[in-house]
Amino acid sequence: MENLVADLLRRVGEDPEREGLRKTPERVARSLEYLTKGYNEDPKTVINGALFVEEYSEMIVLKDLDFFSLCEHHMLPFFGKANVAYIPKHQIVGISKLARLVDVYARRLQVQERLTTQIATMLMDELDPLGVAVVLRAEHLCMRMRGVEKQNSVVVTSAMLGIFRSHQETRQEFMTFVNSSNGR
Ligand SMILES: [Zn+2]
Repeated sequence: MENLVADLLRRVGEDPEREGLRKTPERVARSLEYLTKGYNEDPKTVINGALFVEEYSEMIVLKDLDFFSLCEHHMLPFFGKANVAYIPKHQIVGISKLARLVDVYARRLQVQERLTTQIATMLMDELDPLGVAVVLRAEHLCMRMRGVEKQNSVVVTSAMLGIFRSHQETRQEFMTFVNSSNGR
């Protein structure tokens, strides 16, 4: 990968041998490995190790979780806040595992829509809850830096499954949590 980055530097008109750039190929390679480490992690394993049987049946909401991803079209960052909720049927999962799950999918080349759906579907399949809701709000540097869209525009995506899809009140309760945010 380092050779590719050195090549890339030459292609954009740089000299990879100049002092400031000498270690750049190595740094970029390492950073890219980190930003795509989700490919080496199994989301099922993240969840399955941390399931508890619990007779709790109220909404559990993880709010305003920071996430960082790379858009698959430009390999530029998109990042923002993730809101994840579920209503258990017979088992719950550690909150920190929800955050890990978001990270496993975010640390890949993504589109925001797929990232949203993957998180929701995985929780629905593995937790077997009454429902799952995921809302992501993100800024896309490929739009902001390239002047494609208005500055400061935020992309919002959502996935509502089970009771969040069928019951408007439940969905509304979740959206009230999400919108009470001071963040993005
Ligand atoms: Zn893009």
